[in-house]
Amino acid sequence: MGRVLVILTTAAAVVACSVATVMVRRRVKRRRKWRKVVGLLKELEESFETPLGRLRQMVDAIAVEMQAGLVSEGGSKLKMLLTFVDDLPNGSERGTYYALHLGGSYFRIIRVHLGGQRSSLEVQDIERHSIPTSLLNSTSEVLFDFLASSLQRFIEKEGHESISSQDVKRELAFTFSFPVKQTSLSSGVLIKWTKGFAISEMAGEDIAECLQGAVDRRGLDIHVAALVNDTVGALSYGHYHDPDTIAAVVFGTGSNACYLERTDAIIKCQNPRTTSGSMVVNMEWGNFWSSRLPRTSYDIELDAESLNSNDMGFEKMIGGMYLGDIVRRVILRMSQESDIFGPISSILSTPFVLRTNSVSAMHEDDTPELHEVATILKHLGVPKVPLKVRKLVVKICDVVTRRAARLAAAGISGILKKLGRDGSVGEGRRRSSDKQMMRRTVVAVEGGLYSNYRMFREYMDEALRDILGEDVARQVVIKAMEDGSSIGSALLLASSHSVRTISNI
Ligand code: ADP
Ligand code: MG
Repeated sequence: MGRVLVILTTAAAVVACSVATVMVRRRVKRRRKWRKVVGLLKELEESFETPLGRLRQMVDAIAVEMQAGLVSEGGSKLKMLLTFVDDLPNGSERGTYYALHLGGSYFRIIRVHLGGQRSSLEVQDIERHSIPTSLLNSTSEVLFDFLASSLQRFIEKEGHESISSQDVKRELAFTFSFPVKQTSLSSGVLIKWTKGFAISEMAGEDIAECLQGAVDRRGLDIHVAALVNDTVGALSYGHYHDPDTIAAVVFGTGSNACYLERTDAIIKCQNPRTTSGSMVVNMEWGNFWSSRLPRTSYDIELDAESLNSNDMGFEKMIGGMYLGDIVRRVILRMSQESDIFGPISSILSTPFVLRTNSVSAMHEDDTPELHEVATILKHLGVPKVPLKVRKLVVKICDVVTRRAARLAAAGISGILKKLGRDGSVGEGRRRSSDKQMMRRTVVAVEGGLYSNYRMFREYMDEALRDILGEDVARQVVIKAMEDGSSIGSALLLASSHSVRTISNI
């Protein structure tokens, strides 16, 4: 009996030892894998880093490139396009105006009524729709017929009152979020498509004419009277409410900025006859490039696989269309180099399957178990990962978005520098510029990325304070303008009716 007991005890001890050994081995293996993941995360953080010194170099580079783009056509990656907008709305405008806004993801149609005072601005109707993906690589005819049919539906539902009181054609501003070489306030040709659009026969076409043609074919009583870049619309809306507004930035599907420049500084434009001595310049900053930008292997791959490779490098680091895809690429690589995400998901290999709104939802998930992260990962074909892996995903979102927001802040500071409003004037000029340095400056900001992603806003504000310093940053007001691009374009059209428009010679 005693011997049996000894044998059983020994056997139990042997089994326990072997189980313990297996468990220890597994734990060691798991730790080793996790160490690898921690290493990958560290690498990621380092490559996405945007220290203050680097941001300041970018600010300088942007100001220099802006100058170069103003001196000669093609002098910089920043196109610095003329807009033929010299006077911005001020609140005194009257009448009923329409705008059709083709963005990167949405199109909007609005009708506004202006009563001659700021307080009487009335947005009478506004419609927002997703742009059907089938349009992105369709034909010019299909695109403009689609827009005209949407306009037709919009005006059909308004009844008779609004037009009968005018007894003239409806005046419409076409807000267009792609690079256009304007020839006047009401005309301009497409330079190139961006943000996933690829309608080949359209480059070089007059955009306003294309829309007018489609509208006429449907017999609609609409005059396409202005062609307005979306940033210029946002600036107009900002200026309408607050005359200290001198620049506007869009953070939506893509990203771009415009600002008010002195005409004598626009050297490439020989004779810009303006009444105000200034003109709004559309920077097309999405195409900004500098060796100081923290370009990573993820950016290089994303660019190489995009429809417009070697183009829009800045936009691809900060635009809402791209942030989700950068995060997806990071998760995919981590899942390829370790098995913390389980078997590699084929869904995760699909470009643009992870949208930036999902990135913000994961980043701002405040549930203790990170439920939102778990749900989104499940949709990406990554079910059931432990909490620490979900936390890792949140960290990846943070790293990618923080870089974007800090680069965005450097962009805004670059404009302020160009205008001498960043507080960094040279010693010789300091005395005379003291007053100007402290002048209140408003930057209108619009776009779904900015308005819907709190962490993006917070990181951008923080970086602006870092770059400008608290004193100057206090004078810089970032004002969010919901639907500013669309409403502002209608306001701009209204103001162009009361102010002489300009033409280039
Ligand atoms: P458009 O670019 O068509 O003018 P928006 O300005 O509304 O449209 O921007 C839409 C983009 O904003 C989306 O493509 C997406 O990248 C981003 N976005 C929208 N909602 C969110 C969100 N909740 N979090 C982060 N980004 C968002
Ligand atoms: Mg937009």
